[in-house]
Parts: sequence; C-alpha cells; structure tokens
Amino acid sequence: MSEPDPNPPASPEPAPEPAAQPAAAPAACQPSAASPPTASATPPASAAPSETPGACAPSPPPAAPEPPAPAPAAGTPGPAAPGTPALPAARSPAPRPRRPLPKDYKLRLTALGACAVLLVANIVLGIVVLTSRRQAPAPPPQEPPVPARGVVPPSALEGGGYADMKRLPELRAMMEKLRPLHQKIHKPGPIDWLTHHKEPGQTFAEYLRCEPVTLSASRKTICIQPLGEFTGTQRKIVLLAGEYMARYFSAEISVMEDLPLEVVPASARRGARGVGPQIKTPPGLSSVLAPRLPNDPAADNAVTALDLYPQDSWNFCFGQASLRERVGVWSLARYGDPDSSPEAFRLCLLRTLKVATHETGHMFSMYHCVLCECNMNGSNHMAESDAKPLWLCPECLAKVLWATGADPVGRYKKLAAFCAEQGLKEEQQFFEKSLEVLQKP
Ligand SMILES: [Zn+2]
Ligand SMILES: [Zn+2]
Repeated sequence: MSEPDPNPPASPEPAPEPAAQPAAAPAACQPSAASPPTASATPPASAAPSETPGACAPSPPPAAPEPPAPAPAAGTPGPAAPGTPALPAARSPAPRPRRPLPKDYKLRLTALGACAVLLVANIVLGIVVLTSRRQAPAPPPQEPPVPARGVVPPSALEGGGYADMKRLPELRAMMEKLRPLHQKIHKPGPIDWLTHHKEPGQTFAEYLRCEPVTLSASRKTICIQPLGEFTGTQRKIVLLAGEYMARYFSAEISVMEDLPLEVVPASARRGARGVGPQIKTPPGLSSVLAPRLPNDPAADNAVTALDLYPQDSWNFCFGQASLRERVGVWSLARYGDPDSSPEAFRLCLLRTLKVATHETGHMFSMYHCVLCECNMNGSNHMAESDAKPLWLCPECLAKVLWATGADPVGRYKKLAAFCAEQGLKEEQQFFEKSLEVLQKP
C-alpha cells in the first residue's frame, strides 16, 4: 500500500518509528560490544602452567669460560679457609683445589633460586588444578555467558520467573532449535527503514547487559489506554489486541476507561496528512500517560484511531514507545476500514497486533531487530510493515521470554489458538511449526 502524502516535507518517506527513539535510551542501555563477557574475563586455570615455563628457562651460559682447575698433588693439603683448622693429611682425603667463582655468581644464585621457587609453585598449582578438576564436575558445554551480577535487575536474583538467570541455558537451547525456521533480514530497498536509519541492533546477550525493563511480582499488568473516539469495530480490534498481548507477554492486560482527546494539548495536534487530524506523540502523549500510570503497571499503551506524528518534520508514524519509561502509543488510523469486509477486518487486526506487540516490545527495552525478518524490525511505510512477520526471531523471542517469564511452548500454543480463531492462517501455521520444533527431543 502506498502512503498518502499530500504535503511531503524535506524528510524522507513517511516513517513510522522516529529515529530519536533508540537515542532516547540512556547511555547505560547502549550495548557495549567492547565489554568482554564475564566468563572470559578470568583465564581458565589450565592456562597458568602453560605460561610459566618461559619464566623458568635455563640461565644463559657465562660470558667467559672458566679457567681449568689445577690438578692437585696427591696427599698435598690444600689451603685452609680462614678460621678452619687444618686436619692431618692421614685422616682426611686430599682437598680438591677450589675453582674460582665467576663474578656474577650471586646473580646466578638468585636466578636459580627464583626458578626453584617458580618450579615448586607450578607443581603445587598443577596439583591443585588437577585435584579441583576431579572434585568439581565440568560445566555444561553450552552454558552461555551470564551478565555481570551488578547489572542484573533485582528481580533476577529473587527468581520468580521474571529475568531468571537459571533460564539462560534453556533459552539459549531454544534459540538454537528455532533458528532454522527464520530468515535473515532482507536487504532494505531505497525507501525502507534501514536505508534511512543506521541502527546497531541488539542481540539477546546485549539485551541482558542493558538492564531491561521486565515484568516483576509487583509489575504484572500491561495497560491499554483508549484515547479519543473509536468505531464499534475498531474497539473490538483493540480488545482483541489486548487478548493477544496477554498471550504474547504472559501478562495481565487492563483496558482502561476512555480518555477524551481534549487531554492532549492543542499544541500537540495538527491537521491531516492524509488520514485525518494528527496527534503529536511526545510530549503530547508522554505528558498525558506518565502521570496516569495506575498501580505501577509494567507498560502503558495509549491507543487511538487518530493519526500520529513524532516531530513536525515527519509525515506520520504508526506508533512510538520509550525504551525505559514504560509508556508508548500506537494508532489504527492507517490500517484500513475494518468494516468494509472480513478480509479488511483481518488485515486491520493483523496490523494492529503487529504494532501493539512491537511498541510494547520497545517498552521492555527491546531495540529494533536488524538480524532476521522479525516483528521488531523497524518499518518506514505500510508495504514494508505488511511484509514483516507477526512473530519474533529467536534472539527477540528470548528477550520476551526473559522479561516475562513465559514458557515458550505454552506461549506458542496460545498464540496458535488465537490465530486459528481469527483466521490468521499463515501465523497459525508458523506458531504450530515452531511448537513442533520445540517439542522434538
Ligand atoms: Zn519500533
Ligand atoms: Zn528479532
């Protein structure tokens, strides 16, 4: 679908996701590729013995050859050391003449002593290493690197399913199983998102290091806040989106009472750019939503049937969300008329499911995905958005499972059932195929 654009601004094609969004994340949330993983910060114990022999290399030969020792005459006593009484020749063997000491003999003695100490230390170290290896079982070969303890959210240390460090091996194994089902991201076209927005992406390991927003025992609810007016069918789609999000994020979904459009200041509204009046996302909506967060929800989504724009220079956006502040907004304005036909209803529903889960994914600190075809890809226009799947790639799926504590098998079953009920066949088949792969031994 081409984008209506009666008054194109200087900026490129209509862009649904503002470039400022990732930049809004605080510096602490930037993935740090330079930081080595904890597991490799400490060298393995077996490395120590292999490094030490170099320090114990034999001493170099003396600079000058030693003078030949004079042959002593039989029965001739040698000179006595000062203070040492001479013994009778008949009761002691003939003393051998002393070889002169090299000038650097003290240095040599010191080097030999140091070598001896290192040799003993190596032997002791080797014994300790061998003993400890016999006593402690080897770690599992697929144990993934874990984030430094200091940057793990408190909930990870408390357990309870959210951000549970014990799940890392399970999640890593799940990712490997699912990887063959997913495609690498396509090369972007001239007006596609990644052509105009150079983004770093975010692996699961980088996500763990950024101290992401997660569900917790005290934050289990995701709110949906309707804003302005809706048709009956649009309202039905919002409720279905809430049902889908409950399965997708394994969270409680609370659909709030409507807010009137008047809560958005007049300065944050403008005339149409193709599909009716527009609302400016920040600060127009952040200032409205943030003070209204009830009972400390994990995330608060505003949803509106009006069109959105993030900055004056942009035509529109499908949605926008904060990576840290747990607020976001998405719009149904450009998803067609769901009353016109059953197909149009399904298309509007599918598009709404994509944007709702994509923006809520951002609220759980997920960056745009640049690895695979994935629901967390950025998209610059409707055709690009339609080409992206409803599902997540393995890296992004692991993030959602980590943040929500969801079981991947149970989650896929619920998502497949939802898609079957709504006639979303391609999505249903993909979730069922994923289930099949996950359940193979
Ligand atoms: Zn986005
Ligand atoms: Zn992804």
